[in-house]
Amino acid sequence: VEHWESHYVPPDRIVRDEVAFPSEEVRHLVFVLRKKKGDRVWAVDGLGNAYEVELVRISKKEAIGRILRTENNVGESPTDVTLAAGVLKGERFDWLVEKATELGVRSIVPFLSEGTVVRPNSQRIRRWRNIALAAMKQSGRSMLPEIKDFHQLEGVIRISAGFDLRIMAHPGPGSAALSEILGKLPDPPKSVLLLVGPEGGFVPNEVRLLEENGFVPVSLGPRRLRSETAGVVLVAQVMVNCE
Ligand code: SAM
Repeated sequence: VEHWESHYVPPDRIVRDEVAFPSEEVRHLVFVLRKKKGDRVWAVDGLGNAYEVELVRISKKEAIGRILRTENNVGESPTDVTLAAGVLKGERFDWLVEKATELGVRSIVPFLSEGTVVRPNSQRIRRWRNIALAAMKQSGRSMLPEIKDFHQLEGVIRISAGFDLRIMAHPGPGSAALSEILGKLPDPPKSVLLLVGPEGGFVPNEVRLLEENGFVPVSLGPRRLRSETAGVVLVAQVMVNCE
């Protein structure tokens, strides 16, 4: 089944067996892909549902599809992975959002800590949400990762209790490889929270606080990786082991 070219339809635009594509998708379907009445396309709702639809009405103003069939969890991992990452400078965090989405994370928590060198700016959140949307469609996923608002590290700790496993990327003598940690668990975790530090890493107090709150330190090898590299490697390792 070809899911690779999919179009986003928010859940409230799906009524019974009809989907009404939002205006950005209408433009893309009409002017870029030159779709015609009777053509079949895939729509995804961002909640894990993919619909094959036949276009029944298409014009510059609207594109309406009739649902032919529905598939669930297309392109999705069985493991609910959240990446909490220290906010980075420039376009590095954009890149991380795109790659983490391609790799299948369900949500991303941008956090601020002692090592953060940038100021929070809500425009960046909106930008990351658009990047996640484009990456979801491009990678053949059906769930739209949620980009949370800026958190302080304390806020990340607060939400961490809801996860089966808490991991922090932190090089050090007490850090093990992820495969080793997963190998010791009786069952694969259903939900995992991954933490990656900002450019400056975590200060000793933060490391202590995180460990006290059940975060297991993981080493990604003997080289120091940039934060965005570490984030991608960590997510990829979880997906390889838990998919
Ligand atoms: N000077 C910082 C330090 O020593 O912690 C370097 C931070 S590193 C550039 C940014 C983040 O990437 C770290 O906080 C950590 O989460 C992750 N990271 C980078 N290389 C790593 C490695 N080899 N093992 C585990 N985590 C790593």
